[in-house]
Amino acid sequence: MTHSAELSLARPRWQRELAEAINRPEELLAALGLPAELLAGARAASRLFDLRVPRGFLARMRHGDANDPLLRQVLPLGDELDEAQGFVSDPLDEAAARRAPGLLQKYQGRALLIATEACAVHCRYCFRREFPYSEQVDSGGPRWSAALEAITRDSSIEEVILSGGDPLSLSDARLTQLTDAIGHIAHVRRLRIHTRQPVVLPSRVDAGLLTWLGGTRLPVVMVLHANHPNEIDPEVRAACAALKSAGATLLNQSVLLKGVNDDVEILQRLSVALVEAGVVPYYLHLPDRVRGTARFDVAEETARALLDALMARVSGYLVPRLVREVPGAASKLPVSL
Ligand code: SF4
Repeated sequence: MTHSAELSLARPRWQRELAEAINRPEELLAALGLPAELLAGARAASRLFDLRVPRGFLARMRHGDANDPLLRQVLPLGDELDEAQGFVSDPLDEAAARRAPGLLQKYQGRALLIATEACAVHCRYCFRREFPYSEQVDSGGPRWSAALEAITRDSSIEEVILSGGDPLSLSDARLTQLTDAIGHIAHVRRLRIHTRQPVVLPSRVDAGLLTWLGGTRLPVVMVLHANHPNEIDPEVRAACAALKSAGATLLNQSVLLKGVNDDVEILQRLSVALVEAGVVPYYLHLPDRVRGTARFDVAEETARALLDALMARVSGYLVPRLVREVPGAASKLPVSL
């Protein structure tokens, strides 16, 4: 065995899968048997925001179907280059919420730390697809220092939210370093982690991650991100079970996306799949109007009608809260039924 092969085997499985994720449009189209006409648009759009799809997520898509709901979330399309009225680079005005480099505060008592810019998957509708990560994050450490100092100085912050990017992109050692530092701040009582990795890269939930999870003094709420029932396969269910056994409370936030999950049957199946995996369907967000994402937009009226229809079919705990984030508001705003 060569030295580099030995080194590669020494890495955890999830890091090898991450390194092998698909990032070339031609490879994605070939793997799914999709028409070559899609290539020019996919190449142009992926220059704006890179393509990235873990192979395990790709395996849950239907071969030959350009409208597969998982594929639609990750396939770059030429229309991302079109201007659309009301779709802008920072629709939530996160620049105004910056408290320190790498720290945003939108709501009372909570602060959001940008742990990393890296994600296992690149979702085309991502509201942070134009986020200025280089100004906010330096995974070498000093930028965290400024965020941690700001949290230490403000005793009203009881909950720290790790976001990004996807915080679970960090190695176990870096995560431990970060959460140990947060755990040393006496007034912080809870840790919330926003992550899509247990869904798109379930191998991330390995022994090392579970040890890290059990090692913090802080109760951990993990907010997952799944949008369609086809995302939840046996490996994802096993990852959720392991996270729960390690003590995490599991919630899910979805984004209501045209052509992906704007259908009552799909929303019902998603909620049932989540609850059966031990995850509470918590939020359903109207998509944020970020530039290049107009094809996913769902009108508020349509969203309300969908939720009405869902409520008529299932128990209340299977109905997520329909919300929209509005810059400057004191909380996420419910879209009333
Ligand atoms: S995982 Fe979250 S932060 Fe990363 S690209 Fe998708 S929506 Fe954006």
